[in-house]
Amino acid sequence: MEIDFSEINYLQNPTIKELHAGYEQFLLSMSGPTVIDITGIDSKKYRVINTLLQGNEPSGLIALHRWLTTRDPSQLPQTNIRFIIGSVEAASKSPLFTRRFIPGHYDLNRCFGEAKIEQITNLFSHDTNYQGCCQRAKLIEQAIREVNPDMIVDLHNAASPSPTFSISSVVTTETLSLASFFCQTLILSDLHLGSLMEQKFSCPFITIECGYSLDEQAHEVAFAGINHIANCENIGYIHQEKNVEVIYRPLRLRVKDNVNLAYAKHDEGYSGVTLKTDIEYFNFGGTHQEELIGWLDGNGIDNLQLFDKHGKDVIDDYFYARDNQLVCRHNLRVFKATTNKQVALNDCLFYVVRHSNNES
Ligand SMILES: [Zn+2]
Repeated sequence: MEIDFSEINYLQNPTIKELHAGYEQFLLSMSGPTVIDITGIDSKKYRVINTLLQGNEPSGLIALHRWLTTRDPSQLPQTNIRFIIGSVEAASKSPLFTRRFIPGHYDLNRCFGEAKIEQITNLFSHDTNYQGCCQRAKLIEQAIREVNPDMIVDLHNAASPSPTFSISSVVTTETLSLASFFCQTLILSDLHLGSLMEQKFSCPFITIECGYSLDEQAHEVAFAGINHIANCENIGYIHQEKNVEVIYRPLRLRVKDNVNLAYAKHDEGYSGVTLKTDIEYFNFGGTHQEELIGWLDGNGIDNLQLFDKHGKDVIDDYFYARDNQLVCRHNLRVFKATTNKQVALNDCLFYVVRHSNNES
């Protein structure tokens, strides 16, 4: 599939006809990344809602389509709103919303930022698809910067059942308030993966993980949040809708290179690491000290790695091997645990933080 990486389309106050009856038809009507501008009461200010950086995360698109097609056009949002829809081609591949990116291409939300580009340029310098993905990331970043917004929200989904949570690189009154429009958990993250969130903007920015991509509730969360943003007079002075708990710097649990990963209900004696098939439950309640979460082969805990922010492997502080069982050393909070093996191997098994909120 030929992709034009320099393409970005603009729609201004689209009509119902342009929006089509359903979000799937609307998706298929777009040929590439699309910016939708909606005029607000204060037409000098913008708020940006970005979504679909990854084609298998539909809640943002579903919610913005619902908001655009059900709103009363005489009731303007408080400010202009700019929606940005990123990976249209990947999402449009049949079956819809099942591909994070097009095979042979790259995860768009790992292609942001100059440093990142320089860092891996040598590796990918001959790869036009990689350069194309970085070019698209740049176009999206430009589409945000050119309107100098007073806030940015980036809507995502989890690959597995999960409650909604938000992520930011700073904790301020504004990011806490924005988070409270969607959920009750804000994760402070200082990871450097080449995501949009890591770029420096002169306004509050939060990422929302709306919940599981197939969960109606996740779409509902995204819709309610968009509504809130549209109707909120001043982001800087709002009080929190609900209490928001802050979680500091979760770490990414990974299997080491070339280690086999499996999922099972019981110990099947597989090589490498085996996680329990119900690992996703831990997204809701976390794990307890001494709790069994899987099994290990003869290499034990050495199959896994967990780097802290200084790059030190702290796996032994969080997990240990009890015979061949993988066991938690403490009560742990767990995020983004999934049985999607590809996601688990490419990103991580899950994000983890000690329950006490210790900044360790
Ligand atoms: Zn995502």
